[in-house]
Amino acid sequence: MDSNRPRSVRGRRFSPRTDRIGPPGGAEGFDSGIQEDAGRCAKRPGYQREHLAPQAGGRSGDGIGSVGARHYAGGMLIGAHVREDDPVVSAAERGADIIQMFLSDPQGWKKPPSHPQAQELRDSDVTVVVHSPYVVNLASLNNRIRIPSRKIVVQHAEVAAEVGAIGLVVHGGHVTQGEDDAKGFDNWRKFVERQQAEGGFAVPIFIENTAGGENAMARSFEQLARLWDAVGEFGVGFCLDTCHAFAAGLELVDVVERAKAITGRIDLVHLNDSRDEFGSTRDRHANIGKGTISPDELAAVCAAAGAPVVVETPAEGQAADIAFLRERLA
Ligand SMILES: [Zn+2]
Repeated sequence: MDSNRPRSVRGRRFSPRTDRIGPPGGAEGFDSGIQEDAGRCAKRPGYQREHLAPQAGGRSGDGIGSVGARHYAGGMLIGAHVREDDPVVSAAERGADIIQMFLSDPQGWKKPPSHPQAQELRDSDVTVVVHSPYVVNLASLNNRIRIPSRKIVVQHAEVAAEVGAIGLVVHGGHVTQGEDDAKGFDNWRKFVERQQAEGGFAVPIFIENTAGGENAMARSFEQLARLWDAVGEFGVGFCLDTCHAFAAGLELVDVVERAKAITGRIDLVHLNDSRDEFGSTRDRHANIGKGTISPDELAAVCAAAGAPVVVETPAEGQAADIAFLRERLA
């Protein structure tokens, strides 16, 4: 059986198998938070600062890869990153099949509390994916960053399982300028290898590609290949963010094909337009058609990826983003 496939079907718990380490991913700014994030990200030229790490997430079924049962039933899961205070209502307001949310302050290191709507989320038809905090950087050579990052990711996976999440998005992270990036890739390997030895993660991990930084772990295809050399054998998942890819200078026309050639999978798409130009390295999301990426190209990425899609765009335009994608992908 495919050890890579995510095992987080709603209502079904992850078995204590090694393939729980499934798809990691990551997202940058979301929702109302997305606009704030967009502003914040704009102030940072890449990933030079330790506290700015990446994120991602999605639902899985009995099918191949990480796509949920509803995908096979006809129609991809399409949704949005929403605030965590009332995700069920937020999903309904947007017409979302899937929602992504944080479980704690994305800039903080606190252990996430159990979500008050955990039962409701598990019982609902809405697929859930969780995004880990931005402070996480599993590649960091700094013990004071890397060690708490490991801890908080494991904790987030546990609470993500409580809400029936299909995965936990984690940004690829980075080392600091002048440091040996090989050590960053090795830190990823150690983290996943050790967690697997302890029974795996409570939900699959989706590593997300990031927008900027020369020392990133998941920005260019070359970096992604080195990262997958380190963690691919453990069945880790992948979240493709279109804004990050575009900002990183990756052509969207064949990004799915090229990424899949490396990772063998796409578990989640973060479908975001970009406020900045191709190759800008800036991470500022925009609603579809409000940025610099062609809506046709964005829709084509979703179609090619065949994975659940989450928009991490300004909240007021999310319903329209979802409606557009649903129409184009029908
Ligand atoms: Zn993203």
